[in-house]
Amino acid sequence: MLSRKASQITPSPTLAIDAKAKQMKSEGIDIIGFGAGEPDFDTPGHIKEAAIAAINEGFTKYTPASGIPELKEAVCDKFLKDNGLRYSPGQVVISNGAKHSLDNVFAALLNEGDEVIIPAPYWVSYPELVKLNDGKPVIVETKEENRYKMDRSNLESAITDRTKAIVLNSPCNPTGQVYSREELQEIADVALKKNIYIVSDEVYEKLTYGGAEHLSIASLGEDIKALTVIVNGVSKTYSMTGWRIGYAASEPKIAAAMSGIQSHATSNPNSIAQKAAYTAITASQDCVEEMRQAFDKRMRYMVDRINKMPYVSCIEPEGAFYLFVNLGETFSRQFRGKPVGDGNNCAALLLEQYRVAVVPGVGFGAPDCTRFSYATSLENITEGMDRLENFLKELV
Ligand code: PMP
Ligand code: GLU
Repeated sequence: MLSRKASQITPSPTLAIDAKAKQMKSEGIDIIGFGAGEPDFDTPGHIKEAAIAAINEGFTKYTPASGIPELKEAVCDKFLKDNGLRYSPGQVVISNGAKHSLDNVFAALLNEGDEVIIPAPYWVSYPELVKLNDGKPVIVETKEENRYKMDRSNLESAITDRTKAIVLNSPCNPTGQVYSREELQEIADVALKKNIYIVSDEVYEKLTYGGAEHLSIASLGEDIKALTVIVNGVSKTYSMTGWRIGYAASEPKIAAAMSGIQSHATSNPNSIAQKAAYTAITASQDCVEEMRQAFDKRMRYMVDRINKMPYVSCIEPEGAFYLFVNLGETFSRQFRGKPVGDGNNCAALLLEQYRVAVVPGVGFGAPDCTRFSYATSLENITEGMDRLENFLKELV
């Protein structure tokens, strides 16, 4: 008999779609994958070289559970340089990806039944990670006309005396929206008034477009910094998804708790990947800008194409690498004599009939929408947009 926890968890739909698309591709099926939440670029050469050097130098043993000192120092320098935040290495925990950092944060903060406010649309793993750590996800709906952002009033209405934390994800997966200073200040004011932690997932901080700038809520003042746990990592910024390095920064007490939990759960993150992450963070950041520019170009092309198509629309993202497309209007239409019905079926039709992989919105708490990742080449995007258009033209 499985545990209650296990039976409450749905496997990650983003990883499932990605795996299905990769499998179809390996079978020789000509699939256009908009599912993947991972950059399509190779990990930059100088980062790979650092890993090879680490292996050759025999850096292949256990490290301190919460990460090697030089990487923690590098992460502290990064926070100071990029975010104006002063942390000491004792406040930083290096983990096996940002997802693992989030798991550590919830494990360190939550008691059974503690509530965590999650604005919808949300990244698929937040509610599940909260549940895995005995917490209760409280979903706050946001509106497309508010660019899917949570504000003071919808935040305040979700707070109870069990509220322990608020999840903030800017730039946001899946909506691509970025919170401004004023919007962050509103959330900070509420968190401070009610003494609620902020879990700020900043993994897409380097991928912003059109003049949008990432700001960490922790940088709004020492008092809000003390209530914030920042989660970040190298997966998205340096195209290092498979290396599994993420990190969290917080008050020393929380960091020590996360480090203790990790020391039993996984020990240290991979020693070689830590060396590679050190190089990624400390070497020239030109590779990041190159990737960002490519994402920017693809995004503009896709937004333009989609907003010219019937039944679908999307707001322009300011960050990350996803378009969140509202295709609710297709649900009442017929495709080859059968109703499209809902977002899951729409995504299934696109995959089976047009060989286009997308992630339906239900896993993001937004059933009318579907996520299209633009972490694929402009050539694939062009073909994928043609296929989407042909699918929509078939609807009656
Ligand atoms: N947060 C967000 C918003 C994400 O999209 C992802 C995607 N994987 C993660 C965290 C986790 O990243 P990773 O574990 O690869 O560092
Ligand atoms: N975060 C990425 C996504 O949203 C990768 C998959 C995952 O970790 O869920 O697609």
